[in-house]
Amino acid sequence: MPQPITPPGQRDIAATAKDDQDDLVFLDEQPAEPTDASATGVWRVMIVDDDEDVHSTTTFALGNLDMQGRPLEFLHAYSAAQARDLLRSEDDIAVILLDVVMEQDDAGLHLVRHIRETLKLADVRIILRTGQPGYAPEIDAIRDFDINDYKTKSELTRIKLYTTVTSAIRSYEQIRKIDDSRRGLNQIVHASTELMALHGVQDFATGVLAQIGDLLGIAASGVLCVKDCPGDGDCDELMVMAACGRYAHLGRNALQQHAPLADSRLRALMEQAMAQQRNVYAADAITLYFAGKASRDFVACLDVAQAPTDIDERLLDVFCGNVAVGLDNVELVSHLHDAAFYDQLSKLPNRTRLLEMLEERLAAAAQPGHDQATLALVDLDHFAETNDALGHQFGDLLLVSVANRLQAELGRQVTAARIGGDIFALLGDSSVVTPAVLLAMFQRPFRIDGQDVQISATLGLVRLDDHEGTGGDALKDADIALKRAKSQQRAGYCYFSRAMGVEIRERVRMMHALRTAFGQRQLFVMYQPQIDLETRRPVGAEALLRWQTEDGKFVSPDRFIPIAEYSGLIIDLGEWVLRTACRELVAVRAAGHLDFVMSVNVSQVQFRHPHFLDMLRRALEETGAPPRNIELEITESMAMEEPDLLIEMLDQIKETGVSIAIDDFGTGFSSLSYLQRLQVDRLKIDRTFVTEITGSARGSSIAEMVIQLGRNLGLTVIAEGVEDERQAHILHALGCPLAQGFLFARPMKADALADWLNGGR
Ligand code: C2E
Ligand code: MG
Ligand code: MG
Repeated sequence: MPQPITPPGQRDIAATAKDDQDDLVFLDEQPAEPTDASATGVWRVMIVDDDEDVHSTTTFALGNLDMQGRPLEFLHAYSAAQARDLLRSEDDIAVILLDVVMEQDDAGLHLVRHIRETLKLADVRIILRTGQPGYAPEIDAIRDFDINDYKTKSELTRIKLYTTVTSAIRSYEQIRKIDDSRRGLNQIVHASTELMALHGVQDFATGVLAQIGDLLGIAASGVLCVKDCPGDGDCDELMVMAACGRYAHLGRNALQQHAPLADSRLRALMEQAMAQQRNVYAADAITLYFAGKASRDFVACLDVAQAPTDIDERLLDVFCGNVAVGLDNVELVSHLHDAAFYDQLSKLPNRTRLLEMLEERLAAAAQPGHDQATLALVDLDHFAETNDALGHQFGDLLLVSVANRLQAELGRQVTAARIGGDIFALLGDSSVVTPAVLLAMFQRPFRIDGQDVQISATLGLVRLDDHEGTGGDALKDADIALKRAKSQQRAGYCYFSRAMGVEIRERVRMMHALRTAFGQRQLFVMYQPQIDLETRRPVGAEALLRWQTEDGKFVSPDRFIPIAEYSGLIIDLGEWVLRTACRELVAVRAAGHLDFVMSVNVSQVQFRHPHFLDMLRRALEETGAPPRNIELEITESMAMEEPDLLIEMLDQIKETGVSIAIDDFGTGFSSLSYLQRLQVDRLKIDRTFVTEITGSARGSSIAEMVIQLGRNLGLTVIAEGVEDERQAHILHALGCPLAQGFLFARPMKADALADWLNGGR
């Protein structure tokens, strides 16, 4: 049996044939392995000759030989026409041994032209043979049609035939390899471009697996993992980023999070690739190592039916280098994405992500037949106090356990998000997202650090089915409902209603209008005189802010002051009122009323402002108003909040020389002992108690009590809202020295006040 051919005369033949073939032959110094023809595992040689003997002698001469590790397989055509038929149906033919003279003298050459030009088969090697030396083709034809060799049949001894065919097969193999490389590189470029278009880590990782499959020409079945290796060397587990084919189930856990790799065979292969920091190729699996930056490495493992060829290996090496960069980037982008869309503490979606989901849900809800959804905000009651009392770390743990409970008990049908410090949002079916279900979750304590913590929550809910507007609007509506629920302090929840929306929108409209009005000086101050009940002479006036809109209507301060407070405009507005009142005081004093006291209302928001004292001092100084003729009115409800802060503030205010009155007194619940500690000068009996004096039998009791209280504490008392003589009379009889009300004078403009004081009343 003839030995496998290692072509001894190869160089000679190559030299006599075509120069550029040399390059191909020696391009690859590595031991050749089967390339693409691996599909069949043979070299296909086609014999085209009208002489049957030639067929049999050729197959006899070459039949038992392996070339480049593969046997030959012969295809037989006995005419050019038959060859054409065969070429149409057969592919992957390595060599054609072609007789030049068949049906016609040049039938062979026609066939060559057909092969190269019509069928566009560029790879197949062609060896021309002829019985008659005179039929040699033109040298041009040999070049143009890429013919490997031309031999007369007598020249082709058995040995020459081996060497010629072997050389042609090697050429063919090289051409195919170059072809494969080019195709592979194209594929890598294509794959990389495709991958770069994928932004999510998940998509990218899945894309990488699919592209590896494409490169190898197989349906991908494998897993891609990431592993964090922080500096201290102890590496985390391999986490599955993507899985496909028969490993698809390894991909995600129930919560759609990356899962640790459970398959021990894959784990071993991946660990090996990671340890060696290179790709590992085996007969049944390839393991690809992607060196990531920042101590994160990626590794993919795919099933293969046979070991990849060296070309495939080198292509995969190039591919891995390309993709590692991409993976790193996409991971970075995804981290940024996570930071932008997920709350780092609870791992829940954040406000931004919730808004996106709301939009999706609203879009879906617009389709008929869709389930009705509800958005609920869950505000933990007194969380700030818990945080202060037990520390932020404890607070964080509490938030995490609330997040976990919400998620675990509501299941995946409901989206839980954390949209603020202690505010969670739930978005889901209206039958599930209900006050009953949600509040029930806060009936059991949360176990934190081995301790049971009982907290309650307040809910604001919006039904999305009749919602009009954006996701952002829905969130605002839920917030409005939440605020309402908190202020009501009853059921612990509140559903948003259209009426609430109208009210809020009206308030927002008013806020803008008020700001404009202030800027355009549509606001002014009126003064309501205060009189001595004994002498009925004026002792002072209360400055009251007025807003007359462009259409001439007055807006009550009871409506716009809260809005000014809410929007912060009260800071500037309040300062302006104070200065206006101070200037008016200076004017009144200049007219001779030296003991006149000007009362100015001060809102809580102003009072708490860090620069309030400075503002007060400057206003007094710059207007020249004597402090002892200025009185600030604070409401009783304000006096009851934050007692220590108030006591300290009042001490400082008193140092400026102004006096203090408690407005609307009797509506709150100030205790006697507390009042004693407050540096105040005057109590203003609220209008409702003045009205009561004549309205009911026991009516006088509160007014009387306040008057008594004032006397005991050494404070003056003034009654407001005195509308008739009987009230004035009773108050005077009870010992109330001062009064203010429509009976004596309505609030009036500055010039009217001057007239009134000068006896025009
Ligand atoms: P307040 O400080 O208790 O002011 C007394 C209110 O009672 C004034 O209403 C006044 O017009 C009204 N009034 C006076 N006498 C009578 C009467 O005999 N019968 C009746 N029915 N009402 C009488 P106004 O001006 O509408 O002010 C309402 C509230 O708005 C004030 O209550 C005060 O809390 C607030 N406010 C007014 N101006 C200012 C201001 O410049 N700054 C701040 N912070 N609040 C202000
Ligand atoms: Mg007042
Ligand atoms: Mg009042």
